[in-house]
Amino acid sequence: MKPLFDLHTHTIASGHAYSTLKENIEEAAATGLKALGTSEHAERMPGTAHKMYFMNFKVIPKEINGLFIYNGIEANIYGEKGEIDVASSFIDKLDYIIASMHMPCIDNLGQAGNTKAILGAIENPEVTIIGHPDDSRFPLNMDEIAAAAAEHHTALEVNNSSMHPLNYRENARENILEMLDFCKKYKTNIIIGSDSHICYEIGKFDRALNVLVEADFPEELVINCDMNRLPLVLRR
Ligand SMILES: [Zn+2]
Ligand SMILES: [Zn+2]
Repeated sequence: MKPLFDLHTHTIASGHAYSTLKENIEEAAATGLKALGTSEHAERMPGTAHKMYFMNFKVIPKEINGLFIYNGIEANIYGEKGEIDVASSFIDKLDYIIASMHMPCIDNLGQAGNTKAILGAIENPEVTIIGHPDDSRFPLNMDEIAAAAAEHHTALEVNNSSMHPLNYRENARENILEMLDFCKKYKTNIIIGSDSHICYEIGKFDRALNVLVEADFPEELVINCDMNRLPLVLRR
């Protein structure tokens, strides 16, 4: 299993990441990726880019030395119905939207409440990826989420950073294994993301690949293993 693209990456524009887009692009090419997506945090994350950042994506070349570049965003789920902080004024500039729950932007709503919020994001046709649904600080009903994601053609992320020993998210590996069981049951697509906050993490998927092997997860449900499947997570 070899992922060919990484769509969950951050640059200095996110305010708490440490590399430039050029550094990320160079690292993506060096690690053999075919495509790189840049996905800064949306506006409710303290210190992140202003909406003008997303409105000006036209200046970024679509391809650099054979590496395809996609311009996305990591939106914050901030409401109990899965509302996200992506304004209509720039949504058309985005190639894709990851929707995630983050501590500074939403409180733990309890398992039923968190699940309802994630289901709202899954049902939003603009959202194609649910970021890191793997954190015991936001407990979820994985059965319901995997079923809904399959129905609405939304990919669930296996986030390599979540399983880093220093990551804030709790019990990510156990939660991902539970999620993968239900994804197998419902044939839900998953996508591996590095969630890189420094260029050295771009295209690094070691912990994600390890957990997929442990789950005996079928490669045909892993979107990143086939360039032809990349359009499945682009805005429709
Ligand atoms: Zn971040
Ligand atoms: Zn995130």
